[in-house]
Amino acid sequence: MGSVAASGDRFAKFEKQPIEGRLFINGEFVESKAGKTFDITNPATEKKSASVYEAGVEDVDAAVAAAKAAFPAWAELSAGDRGDYLFKLADALEKRLDEMAYLDAISMGAPAHTSFLNPMALTALRYFAGRAWDTHGDSSLNTPGFVNITLRQPFGVTAGITPWNVPVAMVLFKMAPALITGNTIVIKTSEKSPLAPLIVAKCCQEIGLPKGVFNLINGFGRPTGEALAKHMDVRKISFTGSTLAGRAIKKAAAESNLKNVTLELGGKSPLVIFPDADLSKAVPAAAMSILMNSGQACIASSRVYVHADIADKFTEGMKNAMQEMGKSDDPLTSTTAMRGPQVDKLQFNRIMDFFAYAKEKNLDITIGGDRERDQGFYIAPTIISNAPEDSRVMKEEIFGPVVCINTFTDEDEVLKRANDTEYGLYASLFTRDISRALRVAKKMEAGSVGGKI
Ligand code: NAD
Repeated sequence: MGSVAASGDRFAKFEKQPIEGRLFINGEFVESKAGKTFDITNPATEKKSASVYEAGVEDVDAAVAAAKAAFPAWAELSAGDRGDYLFKLADALEKRLDEMAYLDAISMGAPAHTSFLNPMALTALRYFAGRAWDTHGDSSLNTPGFVNITLRQPFGVTAGITPWNVPVAMVLFKMAPALITGNTIVIKTSEKSPLAPLIVAKCCQEIGLPKGVFNLINGFGRPTGEALAKHMDVRKISFTGSTLAGRAIKKAAAESNLKNVTLELGGKSPLVIFPDADLSKAVPAAAMSILMNSGQACIASSRVYVHADIADKFTEGMKNAMQEMGKSDDPLTSTTAMRGPQVDKLQFNRIMDFFAYAKEKNLDITIGGDRERDQGFYIAPTIISNAPEDSRVMKEEIFGPVVCINTFTDEDEVLKRANDTEYGLYASLFTRDISRALRVAKKMEAGSVGGKI
């Protein structure tokens, strides 16, 4: 309950409010059948902030049964009626943005005053609500004597498993498309940040969403997530998280009912900066990309390739920008800082292991490379320069405010290095040459490619 930090008027009232930690099954908040709970720790204070119920296999069964029972009536509603529910949900959540920001702060260390990911998620929710009428199939007269019709039907019971780094957005990104197309859903949130998503459940109750359409459970990968991934009544599962867990989910699906699987996994995204780049834009964009959410973003530009001609100037700019923009503070007290601690001790230790590796290999740690503050899981903004392409810091997702900067001289060569990754989630580039921008973007092997104009 509550945080020890003096958070000012805007968030102070939430410190006195009880925190919901139950499961949301069939439209009701319930304790888990086995009564088991686990604690959530505030990563800034290292003190317990809440305790939540952990769903066991029998709770997963109950949630799936509720979603199954709710499915026929939900699927029969008109698309417009389903859209209305989602618009109402967005309005209800809008009134609770501060509460969600507070809960994100005390569970995962996201700065509350500068919280912007939850408002962004509401835009997405309204977008999906507005797409209510857009789900339809095709028809043709291609077969003589027949009218061919393709119907797009809901799956039935779907499931979502979410990561901790954008807790509410991940829940909405999974629930909204599922619900608008007539499916029902059971979502298991991350064991690290389950508190703000429970506000989504509260708002579903508040707006009178039919019982069982949306179910939310807390728990760990095993047994909770695994039970959902293996469940014979779940026909589709959408997962966002690490490659390791994604592999386990695909395996569980294959070994159960071959449910449809969608995976959104990690990244080690390259950012290429050509010699004609406008550094007044490239430097803040590169720094922001690796500092936002304390570097805990799947699309963070964690490998920067800068042309040798401007490398010194760029690195100097990055050093200043990382130190200036990267100032950390308690997630509840600051009105300006964009960076809080890492989510938990596990993640903090993982990053410290990368630093130990970098030191052992004598890599050039240009700034940072250590913890910050005595209390809390804070990591100093870090630049590692010229690390070998095959080193762990260049190959593995660190998921912290740690950027590797390497140099290049040739376009083809840098493309080869940028594409030499097993992730391929995101890539970006800076140049003022539009032909080069389009040529390079086309060759970047990534799900999406960006660059600021
Ligand atoms: P994680 O894989 O450890 O956990 C994600 C979720 O999977 C959690 O809810 C966890 O409990 C569950 N889980 C773990 N093992 C499982 C298993 N065997 N069966 C079923 N469920 C299991 O990831 P994380 O640490 O929470 O999140 C960070 C990762 O997520 C990073 O790799 C990041 O890049 C990725 N991510 C990707 C996107 C994207 O859109 N591509 C967005 C956000 C985060």
